[in-house]
Amino acid sequence: MKNKKFNLLLSVILTIFISGCSLADSENTGSSNQTSNSTLSSTQNLENNSQSNSENSVDKNTNTQNEIAVSNNENTISANSQDETKNNSKNVFVYFLNTGNSDSILIDDNGTFMLIDGGDNDDENLVVNFLKKHNVTKLKYLIATHNHADHLGGLDAVVKNIPVETTFVSNGSASSKTYRDFINALASKDLTPAVPLENNKFYLNNSYFEVFNTNGGNSTNNESLVLLYTNGNDKMLFTGDAEAETENEILNKLPQNIDLLKVGHHGSRTSTTSQFLNKLNPKYAVILCGKDNSYHHPHKETMDKLKAKGIEVHRSDECGDIVFESTGNGLKSDCEVIGDYAIGK
Ligand SMILES: [Zn+2]
Ligand SMILES: [Zn+2]
Repeated sequence: MKNKKFNLLLSVILTIFISGCSLADSENTGSSNQTSNSTLSSTQNLENNSQSNSENSVDKNTNTQNEIAVSNNENTISANSQDETKNNSKNVFVYFLNTGNSDSILIDDNGTFMLIDGGDNDDENLVVNFLKKHNVTKLKYLIATHNHADHLGGLDAVVKNIPVETTFVSNGSASSKTYRDFINALASKDLTPAVPLENNKFYLNNSYFEVFNTNGGNSTNNESLVLLYTNGNDKMLFTGDAEAETENEILNKLPQNIDLLKVGHHGSRTSTTSQFLNKLNPKYAVILCGKDNSYHHPHKETMDKLKAKGIEVHRSDECGDIVFESTGNGLKSDCEVIGDYAIGK
């Protein structure tokens, strides 16, 4: 009898020890065990019907790439999202945070939130404090447009501080510490990132977004997820750092005459082709760029195209944080437009 009790005690201790080890392992290795976790709740629907995306991955990135499931369950996501529709107000606030030469955009549809990118590594506190100040107690969607530090940097801190329901990432991987920090932060919260499906509407409240360029690209910038956000009649396009190649690839899928374009790649000449701009014909353009940044963003070629079309340009280096209010029937901004189409120094 005594022996039996001792054996039981021993096996309990061993079990605790072993699970402790595997937890530590998963934190250190970018959580390669993460997809087998059966306690996932927020991404369960995606996972049940997910497929491994590893066939597209480069060998050295297999560990991290394997974690990313391709969401494959349109009905479940849409149904769940629509269940959560809370009220009929149409006014939505879009905050372009002034994180310098990096992106972070918060959309607030009447208390339902999504965050597109999280600034650079040194923007962690700025982004988290901004979210807390705006009473963001939960992010329904967290989007990492692509795996560059000026978009991913602050997202690990966001994940650690704010509950997240669903995380969408681009079809690509990275070997940087910033990327590992992000993946590890997600793992520590039992979250699995997924590449979203195209031809799907992801609802916030009454507004929704669709995603393009989910098949990746020939460079990290060209892997950027491109989001078309719709609130009533208002349409805004968020491009991450997508460049000409991606713009050309998705051009035919995009609508004509949108309201607002978040200009790709901080106003770099590598983005915003004339064809892209002519098709979208946005009323407003937003450029997220740091004052006197070393890349000299925004570039002359981009500013000339925006000027030729008379597009109203709102820039974080001139305005700081930029807020747009979408009424469902037009946009208003708090940002005073200088209107001289100055190029980056
Ligand atoms: Zn980039
Ligand atoms: Zn960037």
